[in-house]
Amino acid sequence: MGEPLLRLDGVWREYPSGDQSIAALKGLDLTIEAGEMVAIVGVSGSGKSTLMNILGCLDRPTRGSYRVAGHDTREMSPDQLAELRREHFGFIFQRYHLLSILDAVGNVEVPAVYAGRARPARRERAVALLRRLGLGDRLDHTPAQLSGGQQQRVSVARALVNGGRVILADEPTGALDRKSGEDMLALLKELHAEGHTIIIVTHDAAVAAHAERIIEISDGEILADRREGAPRSAPEQDFAPLADGHDWHAFADRAREALRMALLAMSAHRLRTFLTMLGIIIGIAAVVSVVALGEGARQKILSDISSIGTNTIDILPGKDFGDMRSGRVRTLVPRDAEALRQFDFVDSVTPSLASSRTLRYRNVSVTATINGVGAEYFRVRGYELADGAFFADRDVQRRAQEAVIDDNTLKQVFGDEADPIGQVILLGDVPVRVIGVTKKRVAAFGNPDALQVWIPYTTAMNRVLGQTYLQRITVRVADGYATKDAESQIVQMMLKRHRAKDFFVINTDTIRQTVDKTTATMTLLVSAIAVISLVVGGIGVMNIMLVSVTERTREIGVRMAVGARQSDIMQQFLIEAILVCLLGGVLGVGLAFAIDAVVGRFGSVKMVISAGSIAAAFGCSSAIGVAFGFLPARHAARLDPVEALARE
Ligand code: ADP
Ligand code: MG
Repeated sequence: MGEPLLRLDGVWREYPSGDQSIAALKGLDLTIEAGEMVAIVGVSGSGKSTLMNILGCLDRPTRGSYRVAGHDTREMSPDQLAELRREHFGFIFQRYHLLSILDAVGNVEVPAVYAGRARPARRERAVALLRRLGLGDRLDHTPAQLSGGQQQRVSVARALVNGGRVILADEPTGALDRKSGEDMLALLKELHAEGHTIIIVTHDAAVAAHAERIIEISDGEILADRREGAPRSAPEQDFAPLADGHDWHAFADRAREALRMALLAMSAHRLRTFLTMLGIIIGIAAVVSVVALGEGARQKILSDISSIGTNTIDILPGKDFGDMRSGRVRTLVPRDAEALRQFDFVDSVTPSLASSRTLRYRNVSVTATINGVGAEYFRVRGYELADGAFFADRDVQRRAQEAVIDDNTLKQVFGDEADPIGQVILLGDVPVRVIGVTKKRVAAFGNPDALQVWIPYTTAMNRVLGQTYLQRITVRVADGYATKDAESQIVQMMLKRHRAKDFFVINTDTIRQTVDKTTATMTLLVSAIAVISLVVGGIGVMNIMLVSVTERTREIGVRMAVGARQSDIMQQFLIEAILVCLLGGVLGVGLAFAIDAVVGRFGSVKMVISAGSIAAAFGCSSAIGVAFGFLPARHAARLDPVEALARE
């Protein structure tokens, strides 16, 4: 004779109670053969449910052994027990335990999803089972839309979807009216006749009378075990399982089901989900906009710098920017500029000085900035002519009294009508002839409304401003030379000439680096604040997920009873956490774009939202989901199925 289907040897189940323990089962020996229909009867508290949970592999004996088809359950891992429940057992509970957010078909499908059955096959099987149980017109009804008897039939279909060799029914008629109860018993007998092993737990002798074997237990011990007639030899049943989905497909399918469940759960608590996301939304929006603002500011400043001209090195009097005494340093002279010309890396050298003077023309009198510059100045700075010509080196050498004016000056002094070229204006008391007008351009630094007049620096020093020293020498480095090397050679020469460090040097590379560094620092700082808000948001998500696990403990128990692995439960809650965060990320990026629109309309700096920062935002928010969803998800996965089921 082969192994019996189910076999208990000396099974004890003790619950700790204070210092002592209460034994719900006291050394039970019991075998149940395949194809039997057994009723377990006893008064309330006698240990029936405890026995049932052990038979169904939801619970383990504290002592003794339980074998299923010869395999000792003591040696099985939680996931192996889950597989047994999934593939061989089918549970029917007194309170149905259907998942309220799924319809009838969805509920019946759940064990098949965990078993990795192909989607069309399991759908077809679920629908066929429901039709057979008389629920063909209730397929898409949720439990709330079904009567008790109908719900119980859905749970029978669920028990059968993976085969259901052994049906375990704990008080299946307990919550039903008489008629529905009788229908249920008739259904169980029918399944028995087809070869299913049926185990019913009941306190009702009338229900037990339907079984062919009645086991009476009292206070955790078997009182009687009697058979009504000889055991029928059950028809050999074909438990051919449904076609399995491909491994990868099965995994993707489980993930998709988990995703669907997560979406359902989220939409069931829309306001709560949104409030949970708020921290993430704000954090992501802050990070994305700050990075975009920083990048916008950086790009603006860099484009301003390139309008000054590239590859230039400026030598200025004083120790550094903002040196109070620099106005009194008079050692920067044209001879320095001449000396610098000797370097072979020099493309051009432009001495300059500037001061304000009154500009007069006929009856117009305005204050203008008089810039004394070299002939190369316009090319180095990238000025373009609207009219006339720039002065040349020759004009600089002969201290020509000629001026180039900008478009502002043109407008202010000459108005629209007169042709300025060839007109003589007075700078202070010195008459100069206008020879050129520059095109309008956006001022990089300084006052955009200032009137600019350029004259040869020699003319400025000797005739107009009357000063012997320069305020700046701009060296343009020829292409192909490293600005850094050029700078250090310039510094050495200037030190030799002045025998003191009474000057300082800036080059556009340095400015660019400074700008980069400054925006990087700013971005880092604000990002740090945003990270804090993201962490706070993440803690909010964790908190809500813990609440959600607690709220849905019974659902988790049901899922475990029908064969969900710990990893399935974990996956479901992790996906939910990630989804909340990811959605928060999407809304956050959306908010950043809204801020961008507002800033673009009212602000002077354009935000530059890059694809990279959007990708980073999504990466970041999913990472938060994983990080802060992990704890609640693990908490859910580690729940004890029996305790979870008992929770209301
Ligand atoms: P029945 O289903 O026959 O009414 P149970 O199997 O539910 O009885 O319970 C049997 C005994 O075990 C009862 O005395 C009950 O108080 C005890 N018991 C059941 N579950 C627990 C538990 N989780 N912790 C402590 N005691 C329990
Ligand atoms: Mg019970």
